Amino acid sequence: MAMIKKVGVIGSGQMGNGIAHVAALAGFDVALNDLSADRLKSALATINGNLSRQVAKKVITEEVRNQALGRIVPTDSIDGLADCDLVIESAVEKEEVKRKIFHDLCVVLKADAVIASNTSSISITRLAATTDRPERFIGIHFMNPVPLMELVELIRGIATDDSTFEAAKEFVGRLGKQVAVSEDFPAFIVNRILLPMINEAIYTLYEGVGNVEAIDAAMKLGAHHPMGPLELADFIGLDTCLSIMQVLHEGLADSKYRPCPLLVKYVEAGWLGRKTQRGFYDYRGPKPIPTR
Ligand code: NAD
Repeated sequence: MAMIKKVGVIGSGQMGNGIAHVAALAGFDVALNDLSADRLKSALATINGNLSRQVAKKVITEEVRNQALGRIVPTDSIDGLADCDLVIESAVEKEEVKRKIFHDLCVVLKADAVIASNTSSISITRLAATTDRPERFIGIHFMNPVPLMELVELIRGIATDDSTFEAAKEFVGRLGKQVAVSEDFPAFIVNRILLPMINEAIYTLYEGVGNVEAIDAAMKLGAHHPMGPLELADFIGLDTCLSIMQVLHEGLADSKYRPCPLLVKYVEAGWLGRKTQRGFYDYRGPKPIPTR
């Protein structure tokens, strides 16, 4: 397997821009792809802001920030990823969207490149099977926020070969992150444990056991969680939370993973958490206000 030098990232949302950020800081050339120039512009502004924050905290120097920014090339066409050694797909958590992306990507991407998905929950084996290179396909699952979280899960599909696994492991090591290896079962390790906890917090709200403030305070002060579960759900994105619960529910066929109807309701309303400024909290004012 050739050395990874250039990394493509598909989807420049909260995860994709974080992956581009850490890859560029680690010295990789990055091609960042999204559907429109406007989305890419706002992703680059976010990366710029996050790098500046690291400069202010003296984590990196101004020179390192400028070098990292210089390594990221935005592209609204998938053709811009053709010469990447590794492409990490981090678009929305919808299987049909990811399938279409992989179909279009395989037409242009060089034959020996590795394809990875940052999916939170979809089967790596099934995604790999939609490509022309299941043996060079792997799950590289980052945690949010990418620049701060130490862990990356690596998930082999049934056909993933050893050289692909080793290349992905080396890549994650060069980002300065730790690897946890997960088997390819719904939602892998972190989300298999975390999302049912968040879903249960939403049931606790739905059944009126506590309000938003009480539930979050209970878990912060009573279990020493750095964020309350509802605050965390808003941070992850309620659409992403719902997709993961649906994958667990369908994939494991166990009613204990039934998505809470209140979570469904918030997603139907388009109240997706921080990214839409409203979820279990309303973020439009100076301070988040609980919405229930
Ligand atoms: P997001 O909604 O912030 O961003 C998704 C981006 O993908 C958007 O910018 C959108 O324009 C873009 N996109 C959609 N279709 C595309 C296409 N066909 N081609 C190129 N770009 C396209 O979502 P996110 O939170 O960044 O999640 C992205 C992926 O990362 C999902 O698979 C999610 O499950 C996974 N993930 C999310 C988290 C989290 O905490 N949010 C954590 C780990 C992994």
